Amino acid sequence: MPRAFITGITGQDGRHLAEFLHGQGYDVYGMVKGQSNPKAVQVVDEMPFVELIPGDLADLPSLVAALELAQPDEVYNLGAISFVALSFSQAELTANTTGLGVLRMLEAIRMVGGTQSNPIRFYQASSSEMFGKVRETPQDERTAFHPRSPYGCAKVFGHDITVNYRESYGMYACSGILFNHEGPRRGIEFVSRKVTNAVARIRLGLQHELVLGTLDTKRDWGYAGDFVRAMWLMLQQDEPDDYVVATGTAHTVRELVERAFAEAGIEGWERYVRQDPKFYRPAEVDLLIGDATKARRELGWQPEVDFAELVKMMVDHDMRTEATKAGVALP
Ligand code: GDP
Repeated sequence: MPRAFITGITGQDGRHLAEFLHGQGYDVYGMVKGQSNPKAVQVVDEMPFVELIPGDLADLPSLVAALELAQPDEVYNLGAISFVALSFSQAELTANTTGLGVLRMLEAIRMVGGTQSNPIRFYQASSSEMFGKVRETPQDERTAFHPRSPYGCAKVFGHDITVNYRESYGMYACSGILFNHEGPRRGIEFVSRKVTNAVARIRLGLQHELVLGTLDTKRDWGYAGDFVRAMWLMLQQDEPDDYVVATGTAHTVRELVERAFAEAGIEGWERYVRQDPKFYRPAEVDLLIGDATKARRELGWQPEVDFAELVKMMVDHDMRTEATKAGVALP
């Protein structure tokens, strides 16, 4: 059985990827940080097939020990401080985990190595936030980076060091430049889930308003379950390379809000939404839209869930879970 090691196993993508790889016949190992991490309990409940190993991207010896234990064929580095807004207030921590963490993982792979005929393959979770103040539209693998947050800057370092280790040491290392990808497992701090959760609660009479920052920015929102397939496909090619993964369609936050309220059967969304500058960011990314032609051509990848289906999936999920939590009937 092939063996996969995933950092960030407790996050949205880690959980989707673990399920997917298990379905492909992999033994799945996941790294969890901290002492009695409450999210680890959730992973154990949800996916008993995953073997959890302690480790931290800020601690190189722990990464070496984790790889020695897991003996993986493939490493997926999804662990990071991943919330842009938090990266402004915890910039140094973000640089250390999201940026230097990649370097440490690459070094740990060099030390543990795998065998000459079967070297460890490495996937780095890069981000469309690296494009930031975009130089061209849509963005593809050749578009220059102009990050707009400490998170984006750290991801640029992670991307560049992955390419550098591939070129310097001949490592099988890939960088997947993924545009925003969402789903029912998305953290509540991200705008998609914040909106669908609030809409569900408003529909159920549990909440009366939704407070947001800008409604004007545009994102290329896809479904996380589709995007993890692309990660795996990148590591199955003859040669390692970098790929943009995106749907190629962008919507404003306002459109997301409209769609989610409509999905829940609520008219006149403006009555419920208030804007508060506390959710504005010191520097904003106005528009992201990806061109995934290369992934489509070389990996045979394409998304299956579109924006409308994604919003519906998330609103339906949040209606069910919020109704159950509150002990109220679904309308
Ligand atoms: P990001 O693209 O990785 O920053 O993903 P987010 O989901 O955090 O934010 C997407 C866009 O929604 C950004 O342009 C945010 O500024 C905007 N936005 C507007 N209001 C909010 C809010 O209340 N929370 C979040 N997270 N984003 C918001």
